[in-house]
Amino acid sequence: ESKRTGKNQIKEFEDESKHQILRTVEIEKALAQALDRNEFSLVYQPKVSLTQNRLEGVEALLRWNNRELGHVSPTDFIPIAENTGLIHSIGSWVMRESCRAWVRWKKSGVKPFTLSVNVSPLQFAREDFVESLQAILDETGMDPMFLELEVTESSMLSYEASTREKLAQLHQFGILISLDDFGTGYSSFRQLRELPVQVLKIDRSFIVNLFTDRNQEAIVRSMIQLGHNLNMKVLMEGVETSDQLEWLLNEQCDYVQGYYFSRPLREKDVVKHVKSVTTYIEFGKTRA
Ligand code: C2E
Ligand code: MG
Ligand code: MG
Ligand code: MG
Repeated sequence: ESKRTGKNQIKEFEDESKHQILRTVEIEKALAQALDRNEFSLVYQPKVSLTQNRLEGVEALLRWNNRELGHVSPTDFIPIAENTGLIHSIGSWVMRESCRAWVRWKKSGVKPFTLSVNVSPLQFAREDFVESLQAILDETGMDPMFLELEVTESSMLSYEASTREKLAQLHQFGILISLDDFGTGYSSFRQLRELPVQVLKIDRSFIVNLFTDRNQEAIVRSMIQLGHNLNMKVLMEGVETSDQLEWLLNEQCDYVQGYYFSRPLREKDVVKHVKSVTTYIEFGKTRA
């Protein structure tokens, strides 16, 4: 143990950051060809409405499997896609493919549910964002009334005239906006008050230590109340245990998402899920 000090530690540190840089370069190179090589796929994670005890919708999550690198997490490659500008073509692919999946689900005869798609701030900032989205909706036959865009606080940060205009247009189409990773960004109360978003999605980091960190319950409770006071619905992500679920039911949280109900599913398994799961909460057991 005592050897891991001084010079040795610095060396380890340098090796580590060298490794990081090399990996980033590798990812960059492979990412540029990933679309052409058909290396992306999508999975869909259910969102459950606690008030209606039914499936509210699914969130499309991107997966990347490269022959050399194996499975790479979106938390690793999305930032690189943003830095290289590849996010625009990748983002369009995600939108088109997930809308096609939604149309296939609809054709399979299941009751339609909402499709949520993550949108990078860079995509949203593009002047032609609304037009390109409209083109994809036309092309795929996706019903905008069932589409929700998950945007982060940084997309809304520069809440300038053009953002306002885009949000108004999306709203006119009937598209929902939810604020993803809420609590991790920098939006002020003032900005929050002005944002035309319908759903606050509380970041997973807030539920992880719900019962262990001091004051954590008070913070999450306040976030739920804040959302409700601003006439928004509130979703808690990363729900893994029945204790967490029970607590959220008690606090009137509207929607939850997490491994407790379902991991992200392949397109076909979404239909199986919808057909086999008709209720999520056993009332009387969980809620008095
Ligand atoms: P996010 O949008 O906040 O998605 C939630 C992440 O939490 C997903 O990770 C999901 O698989 C994971 N998760 C859900 N429930 C649980 C749970 O109960 N426990 C745990 N431990 N994790 C849970 P994933 O799929 O790795 O995605 C990570 C992030 O990458 C996403 O965070 C999102 O910011 C980004 N991302 C994923 N797909 C896309 C995409 O198509 N476009 C863009 N721009 N970003 C994407
Ligand atoms: Mg999301
Ligand atoms: Mg999130
Ligand atoms: Mg997140």
